[in-house]
Amino acid sequence: MSSAYEVYTNMNSDAMILTGLTGSLYLPLVRSDVVRPSFRNDPPMTLAVDEVYSALRREFKGDLLRPGGDGYSQARSVWNGRVARNPGLIARCDGISDIKAAVEAAGEVDLLTAIRCGGHSLAGFSTCEGGMVIDLSRMRSVSVDERKRRARFDGGCLLGNIDQATQKVGLVYPAGVVSETGASGLILGGGFGWLTRLYGMSCDNVEGFTLVVADGPIVHASATENPDLFWALRGGGGNFGVVTEFEVKLHPLRSVLFGTGMCLGDDIPRVLQYWREFMPGTADNLKWSFSMRLAPDDETVPAHVRGRQVASESVLWIGDPDEARPQIDHALSVCNATAVTKNVFSFLNLQRMADWEFPAGGRYYTKSGYLKSLDDRTIHHIIESLSTIPSPTTQVELSYQGGAAARVGAEETAFGDRSSPFIVNILGSWSDPAADAENISWVRELFAKLRPSMTPGAYVNFMSGDEEDRTPEAYRERWDRLVAVKTHYDPKNFFRLNQNIPPQQRADKAAQPHP
Ligand SMILES: Cc1cc2nc3c(=O)[nH]c(=O)nc-3n(C[C@H](O)[C@H](O)[C@H](O)COP(=O)(O)OP(=O)(O)OC[C@H]3O[C@@H](n4cnc5c(N)ncnc54)[C@H](O)[C@@H]3O)c2cc1C
Repeated sequence: MSSAYEVYTNMNSDAMILTGLTGSLYLPLVRSDVVRPSFRNDPPMTLAVDEVYSALRREFKGDLLRPGGDGYSQARSVWNGRVARNPGLIARCDGISDIKAAVEAAGEVDLLTAIRCGGHSLAGFSTCEGGMVIDLSRMRSVSVDERKRRARFDGGCLLGNIDQATQKVGLVYPAGVVSETGASGLILGGGFGWLTRLYGMSCDNVEGFTLVVADGPIVHASATENPDLFWALRGGGGNFGVVTEFEVKLHPLRSVLFGTGMCLGDDIPRVLQYWREFMPGTADNLKWSFSMRLAPDDETVPAHVRGRQVASESVLWIGDPDEARPQIDHALSVCNATAVTKNVFSFLNLQRMADWEFPAGGRYYTKSGYLKSLDDRTIHHIIESLSTIPSPTTQVELSYQGGAAARVGAEETAFGDRSSPFIVNILGSWSDPAADAENISWVRELFAKLRPSMTPGAYVNFMSGDEEDRTPEAYRERWDRLVAVKTHYDPKNFFRLNQNIPPQQRADKAAQPHP
């Protein structure tokens, strides 16, 4: 194995490095006293769209796109190619007054409305059939206060917009690993990435939100203003309003030391067993993750390895490079790794490295869960599943969180319990629509085998669109508090295209005497 550390600060983001997205049996609550989402596409909806369009067109500063019009077909597409829907109106807002007007107009006629930042919702929640999309893609400004290590950014920002602005002064905001992901959806659901172990989750680094809530009022939420809403927005998803601006903490970082390698055959269970014992005692600066998959047919992978079952590992150390080298060497020496790389990356390149792996328009289906410990049974099922994997781009990711994220108490944010440090993410990815059924059932079958070892809980941002029953599982003992905040800010469930927390039905109904 080479021990040379090459410096590629301008390394091409197309480089073939495999990173994945992360770098129980539980009975869901079934509630009869909640307002369920409705998904209508009928003549009344067409009339409602016309009404909203007429109300908006006079003052709207952004673009109002309708089917058949210029720019519509490009604007309607979202990241997951399995989700192809045709909204009746795309309101591409240019400022908070446009958002407010759109929420007010749609609320008047109860028009089904989706909110879109980056359009990366795995479940496809940022579009809808027939209704309206409030699209924030024109709102991507970022301002940075270097001295205070703080930033403010708009609700339409992609992670790359924030990285570009904060790196000008050597600062970073801890977020996800693909630069094209929308910041809003990621932060509101929680937000994991390369820096989570050292600096906490994305939602832990937010100090304030500005949002337009149902019927149009503009509200600010922070530790001192509307603290219940502030709590709910850190993990509770897009349930409470359209976030127009985030105020966040930043941290100093310019470059990192990063290594990759691939383990094969009998080495795979051995390295995973070692990893599960090693990670709990290691420094927060180390992020060491695995992606189980078929080795890509690419020239950067040795010919004899291509197409074989591999555990592709990525090892990142954030901090002093001299301290980093032995750590990365140690991790990569645990198995007889092949295709080893070790580089110093600028933070911007680290953040763009995985972009090529998840192209927009591909077909995706995911399921994920948490594990308190990684048992041999789980390792066995994951490795066994590789022999039937239906697509060369599908991966099963294993990552270990812990660190700063785990030091935030379960009640401090709506995101909740962080005490199960292992995350398994089954990420089905393919391109042929005819292969949908085969790929989806492969993901489901593996998930069913792993489920008994999982702890109750789910990460809403990794959920597919058919997991509505897992939303209460994601929040568990925080559910009632979330329902109360939802009922206060959105009693009619206007913001319902999300991992939905339905409001309680009106007090007048609830207060009716029992027969
Ligand atoms: C390629 C890829 C890489 C990913 N990597 C990571 C990762 O590293 N770490 C991680 O934690 N997650 C990751 N995810 C999951 C990601 O967090 C979710 O897909 C998230 O929803 C994406 O946010 P978005 O703004 O792009 O989504 P959108 O599809 O735009 O929206 C998602 C949800 O958020 C709501 N929403 C969007 N904007 C707003 C707003 N301004 N105000 C209120 N609600 C809003 C929408 O209504 C919708 O319900 C990844 C996903 C993909 C597809």
